[in-house]
Amino acid sequence: AKAAGRSSVRFFESEMDTHVERRIQIERDLRSAIASNGIVPYYQPLVSLDGNRIIGFEALARWEDSDLGFIPPDVFIPIAEETCLINGLSDQLFRRACLDANTWPTTFVLAFNVSPVQLRDPTLGLRLLSILGQTGFNPRHLEIEITESGLVENIEVAQTVIDQLRQAGVRIALDDFGTGYATLSQLLSFHLDKIKIDRSFVSRLDQSEESQVIVRAILGLAKGFGLTTTAEGVEDAGQLAYLKANGCTEGQGYLFSKAIPAADIPTLLHRLPYD
Ligand code: C2E
Ligand code: CA
Ligand code: CA
Ligand code: CA
Repeated sequence: AKAAGRSSVRFFESEMDTHVERRIQIERDLRSAIASNGIVPYYQPLVSLDGNRIIGFEALARWEDSDLGFIPPDVFIPIAEETCLINGLSDQLFRRACLDANTWPTTFVLAFNVSPVQLRDPTLGLRLLSILGQTGFNPRHLEIEITESGLVENIEVAQTVIDQLRQAGVRIALDDFGTGYATLSQLLSFHLDKIKIDRSFVSRLDQSEESQVIVRAILGLAKGFGLTTTAEGVEDAGQLAYLKANGCTEGQGYLFSKAIPAADIPTLLHRLPYD
């Protein structure tokens, strides 16, 4: 028993080592990836459920490392935050996204994510606005996606940043709605334009009556407050039909398209609308 115990400890230690090693590798390669513009935005279509037309794209960061392979943003964004690389990375992605979006049909929206950690920084609003100025992208066609925790963990700074952006005509979307713990009155005090219903509710629509009730409640609430709604993670026609029947305005998900490189957008726009 003693021997077995020791070898499982050793196994655990070697697992830890690989974990720590990989993390160190990611951190090191992240620096050089940012320095060489190796992390780029891909774009997932935002689809109006009234006629299934593409009305814009959400930028999603993609990093394919030659040694480490594909590293998801859920992994490298937190590391970028801990190592103070996030501002440089985010500014770079945003500049690239604005330049890409300048080539899209002029009515299209660009949706861009900022994380809770980024919202602690009072310079965020002015940095985003200055990149809009430099690239000439119209602030009225920009939507900034923020999560609940981003708002309630930094109420004052978040309010300042949001006010600066809204004054310039930028819209604010609440990302992953339904997963946080903020009260409704807390959220409404921020003057949001849109609610994005978290994928976890959309994906359970066909199995769980509870999810149906939650989705209908969110849609009713949003309508009452004059907010538009985007359903995240729409993967099949049944979900789409349910969302449409209950007044959801926009959808996003693999049913329409995953995130694609900028160069593939013209081809995608040629085979429209979805039916
Ligand atoms: P998010 O903002 O909630 O983005 C939606 C995620 O759901 C994306 O994952 C997208 O690829 C995925 N998705 C979209 N449709 C479907 C579907 O039908 N089914 C399934 N299973 N998944 C779907 P991704 O690209 O891995 O991004 C994960 C998270 O990383 C994002 O969640 C966002 O919080 C963060 N992120 C991505 N890019 C950026 C960025 O440029 N800046 C910041 N701060 N965060 C980013
Ligand atoms: Ca998002
Ligand atoms: Ca989301
Ligand atoms: Ca998310």
